[in-house]
Amino acid sequence: MDVSQSIVLHNEAQEHIVGGVNSPSRAYKGVGGGTPIYMKRGSGPYFWDVDDNKYIDYLAAYGPIITGHAHPYITKAIQTAAENGVLFGTPTELENTFAKMLKQAIPSLEKVRFVNSGTEAVMTTIRVARAYTGREKIIKFAGCYHGHSDIVLVQAGSGPSTLGNPDSAGVTVGTAKEVITVPFNDISAYEEALAIWGDQVAAVLVEPIVGNFGIVEPKEQFLAEVNRLTHEAGALVIYDEVITAFRFTYGSAQQLYGIEPDLTALGKVIGGGLPIGAYGGRIDIMEQVAPLGPAYQAGTMAGNPLSMSSGIACLELLQNPDVYQKLDQLGAQLEKGILTAAQAHGIEVTVNRLKGALTVYFTNKNIENFADAQETDSEKFGQFFHLMLSKGINLAPSKYEAWFLTITHSEQDIEQTIQAASYAFKKMAEKA
Ligand code: PMP
Repeated sequence: MDVSQSIVLHNEAQEHIVGGVNSPSRAYKGVGGGTPIYMKRGSGPYFWDVDDNKYIDYLAAYGPIITGHAHPYITKAIQTAAENGVLFGTPTELENTFAKMLKQAIPSLEKVRFVNSGTEAVMTTIRVARAYTGREKIIKFAGCYHGHSDIVLVQAGSGPSTLGNPDSAGVTVGTAKEVITVPFNDISAYEEALAIWGDQVAAVLVEPIVGNFGIVEPKEQFLAEVNRLTHEAGALVIYDEVITAFRFTYGSAQQLYGIEPDLTALGKVIGGGLPIGAYGGRIDIMEQVAPLGPAYQAGTMAGNPLSMSSGIACLELLQNPDVYQKLDQLGAQLEKGILTAAQAHGIEVTVNRLKGALTVYFTNKNIENFADAQETDSEKFGQFFHLMLSKGINLAPSKYEAWFLTITHSEQDIEQTIQAASYAFKKMAEKA
C-alpha cells in the first residue's frame, strides 16, 4: 500500500504542529510507530486517504461517528444551520429542542447544560458536585479516561488508602492529592477507600461501561453497590457517559442497568461529529450552576447552532429501533469471525463486546479491570494493527481502544474485515 503522501504531510505537520498531531492518540506511539494516515474524505463506513487508499473504518473518530461518515441527513442539517448563521452568543430555540430530546432519552437529566467537549462536561460535573457537597475529594477508577482537565489526569497511589499522583507534567501534586483511584469492578477496594476518605469525598466518577481500556462491563451489582456506598457516604455519583450514551441503546448505559447517577456527563455521539459536551442531573444539584447558583461555567461556543443541529439530526437517526439491533448483529458477526480466525491460527485473543463496540485483547485471560488490560500483549496488538491497516482496515492505534461499528457497516464489510484479520493472524503466527 502506497502511503507516500501521508508521509509527506506528516513530515510537514511535524514542522508546525507539536508532534505532528492535534491529539496524542493520533500518533502511532501505541502501535510501535509508523506514519499516521492522513484521511481526506469519508462516506458511510469508509474513508479514503490522501494516496486514494480506501479503508473500512472502525475508529469512528473515537466514537462520535455512529451514523457513518458524511451521513446525508446530518450533513444537510449542518448546511442549513450554517446558512442561518453559525454563532450568535444568544439563546436559540435549537438548544431547547435538543435539551428536551436529551431529557426524554435520559430521564435522570432533570436539567442540562451544553458545553463543547467531553472534557468540559466532566470537569464541570466535578465542580458542581464540589459546590453541592462542600467537599473536595474525588474517587475515580484506574485506567478510566475522563478528558484532560487537571483533576482527572491523576493516577493511583499505592492503594485505596493513598492519594493520587500526577499523571501528566503540569498537574500539581496538590491537585493529585484530591483524587483517590481504585480498581474498576472491585467493590471491596471502593469500600475501603470510602471508609478512609468518605467524609471528604464530593463524588465518584464512573464510566458505567468502561470504554477506555477496551470495552469492560461492570460486574453484577457493582454499579448498584457503588451507588449505595457513595450515597451512604454523603457523596454524589457522576456517570461519565461520554462514550456510552447512545452507543448501546437510544439513551444511556444507566438505563441498561437501571441505575441512576446524580450527574451525567455526555459528549461524542450527541454531537453527530461536531464538537459538543453536555452535563446534567438532579435539579437541586444543577441549580448550583450560574446564573442560578455559585458554581461558574460558561462558554462562547456552548450550545452553538451547528453542534445543536448536528446533534439533533444524529439522535433522530438513532431513534429508529432497528439501529441498535443492527449494530448488535454486526458486532456478533465480527466477534465470531475474529475468534474463529484467531483460533484457526493459534493466536490467543479475548474479545469483549457489547452490541456494536468491541475490543480484541491479545491474551487468553478475562479482562475485568485496567491491570488485566495492561497485561495484554502490546507488541502483538501493534503487529495486528499494522497488518490490518495494510489490508485497508482502520482501527484505533492503541490496544486500549474499542472498535466502533456504525449503522452504515454491512455484512460484507464485516466479512472483508474478518478475512483481513485472518490474514493478520496467519502472518503473526508465521512470525512467532
Ligand atoms: N470521558 C470519556 C469516557 C472519554 O472517552 C473521553 C474522550 N475519549 C472524554 C471524557 C473526553 O472527551 P473529549 O475528547 O470530547 O474532551
